[in-house]
Amino acid sequence: MSPYVPLRAQPPWQTAPSAEKEYGEPAPRKEVIYQCPGGHPVLVVFYAEAEAPPSWDCRRCGRTAYLPGVAPEDPVTTKHQDQTTPRAQLRKRRTEEQGRVLLDEALERVRASGCAR
Ligand SMILES: [Zn+2]
Repeated sequence: MSPYVPLRAQPPWQTAPSAEKEYGEPAPRKEVIYQCPGGHPVLVVFYAEAEAPPSWDCRRCGRTAYLPGVAPEDPVTTKHQDQTTPRAQLRKRRTEEQGRVLLDEALERVRASGCAR
């Protein structure tokens, strides 16, 4: 026998005849087809018990494809729902008092550097 024995003759993603023996039965899967507004069917394979999301990005054009019977969400309300102004985000993170302290510290640094006139 040769001293060099490869651990694996084929990469694991290739289904060798012995793969089922080695890894057991493959997990049950289901195929879900989304409909792209551009007319491209988008086939996605999920684990059989996983819940397929209502939408999936089309691989060909990048638009959002939907399950048959799922109404496309209003892109305006969904896309901008979580977006707020930078000021509103800042006010979530810091109180007015914390903001004043930080502003004072920053002004102090600017004055100390001699840049402020
Ligand atoms: Zn498409």
